[in-house]
Amino acid sequence: MKLMIAVDMEGATGVVSWEQVDPKAAEYQRFRHLLTADVNAAIEGALEAGFQDIVVSDGHWNSGNVLIEELHPAAQLNTGTPSPFSMVQSVQEGVAAAFFVGYHARAGSKHAVLDHTWSASRVANAWLNGRLMGETGLNGSVCGAFGVPVLLVTGDQSVAAEAHEWIPGLETVVVKTACGRNAACCLPPVVTGRLIREAAHRAAKAFLSGNGPKPIPVTRPVIIRIEFVTSQMGDMAGLLPGAKRLDGRTIEFEAPDMPAAYQGLRAAIGLAGA
Ligand SMILES: [Zn+2]
Repeated sequence: MKLMIAVDMEGATGVVSWEQVDPKAAEYQRFRHLLTADVNAAIEGALEAGFQDIVVSDGHWNSGNVLIEELHPAAQLNTGTPSPFSMVQSVQEGVAAAFFVGYHARAGSKHAVLDHTWSASRVANAWLNGRLMGETGLNGSVCGAFGVPVLLVTGDQSVAAEAHEWIPGLETVVVKTACGRNAACCLPPVVTGRLIREAAHRAAKAFLSGNGPKPIPVTRPVIIRIEFVTSQMGDMAGLLPGAKRLDGRTIEFEAPDMPAAYQGLRAAIGLAGA
């Protein structure tokens, strides 16, 4: 049975600023080690509980953050961009369950480190079938379309609360308590490593014994609405075939299923940046 560990960086241990997650900034290199340690802790917990096959899908920036030379030898790494399923690459290849490590809250959240939805510079808000969503709801719903439950989310207290709204019964690890977008009280890696390993173990064990959270249900067709930051972005994203322009900054489109909705959202946000 294969476990996918989908990885973002804003929710990693110690991260509170863009400089710490921007490949062009000097601080970034330090935080790659901390991110990889969070991922390894999750792998260790899953292995102890009985998973043997683990794929890590690096989803931050250009998907080249996790240090493969420090990655646990039991795992494989999806790295590089673009891949067909981006932040949840491999979900289409028969994984049984997923962990989300280093995740962050949706755009507009209060007291949430680096809150955003897919693109901080382009997306003001996004909705899935009328429900305001962030990347936990979005990527979790792609997993749900493949019958894959999300068992664990790690990040700050805001993404943990958001995850519990979407996925009742999952395990969460709060590695930092945010008091602003760029400020948090952070636990040190020796502590977060233990907390992540223990939560991963509990989550994997419950799943492997037939318990744990259900996949997020997704009704079809899927309606995606995106409110961009500027009307110029609306002009560009509105070029997506089938997109309706709701107002200057907002488009909406219908997709037959969640994988197609995910493609459409990525395409629309890509156009908005052109
Ligand atoms: Zn990210």
